[in-house]
Amino acid sequence: MSVITGRYAPSPTGHLHVGNLRTAVLAWSLARSVGGGFVIRVEDIDRQRCRPEFEAQQLADLAAVGLEWDGVPVRQSERTERYVQALAALPTYRCYCSRREIQAAASAPHGAPGAYPGTCRNLDPEVAAVKAAERAEVGMEPAIRLRADVASWRVQDALHGEVTGAVDDVVLRRADGGWAYNLAVVVDDAEQGVTQVVRGDDLLSSAARQAYLADLLGYRAPEYVHVPLVLSQRGKRLAKRDGDVTLRDITAGAAQAWIMRSLGLPGVPVAELPDRLAIGDIPREPVIFG
Ligand SMILES: [Zn+2]
Repeated sequence: MSVITGRYAPSPTGHLHVGNLRTAVLAWSLARSVGGGFVIRVEDIDRQRCRPEFEAQQLADLAAVGLEWDGVPVRQSERTERYVQALAALPTYRCYCSRREIQAAASAPHGAPGAYPGTCRNLDPEVAAVKAAERAEVGMEPAIRLRADVASWRVQDALHGEVTGAVDDVVLRRADGGWAYNLAVVVDDAEQGVTQVVRGDDLLSSAARQAYLADLLGYRAPEYVHVPLVLSQRGKRLAKRDGDVTLRDITAGAAQAWIMRSLGLPGVPVAELPDRLAIGDIPREPVIFG
């Protein structure tokens, strides 16, 4: 018997829209439905785009639609030491490629689309030294990439079944010194004891890389539940930046009512969702808001 711990991990780059809130409610509900834990993590590693006022508002909005969580939310910006340790434990190499070089190489007619082609994987040390010096002159460091020894990895998803996804030499630390999402999310989920990851299915393709990283770090990969996204009436996915519907536009009560309708439970309070919805009941089709 294993007790589930779920999580919701918003980035404070804007207000949560109804699609974000729906996913958060699902994550909370699935964990609580089996008496599991539920934690919040603030994914604020991108210091350029994250703002404290959004963090406070996001937590308030999550509470307003009926979520409650265990303990105090963890902030990625305060966990640098953990990422340093994880990076040191992984097989890596330095990458000096510019964005343009990567795009040009990645569009070559071999390998997975968009995958890093491994240009710097076995760089001649003298060439590497020249490139490092060029970078240092403009105040840049090389990016640190994972030296992956597989090309694909298999994950288990509660809605999508067994999914095999591409693995490449993902960036773990960016050239500007920032931590890559893929590393942070794996370290944090494991260290917060998260065993169930419920999130939008736009992230399904990154699950394989993350599960592989977890394996390399000696962590057990979580159970994934990638839920359909919420689309606008024009069929476009909702996005925070596009001014989509948030609790600035509708009341928390209206958002709750819509979320429950979208789950086929009109009129049921959010508080009762854990008793009313099992994983298998989650609608598989994208949901249209409006
Ligand atoms: Zn490179």
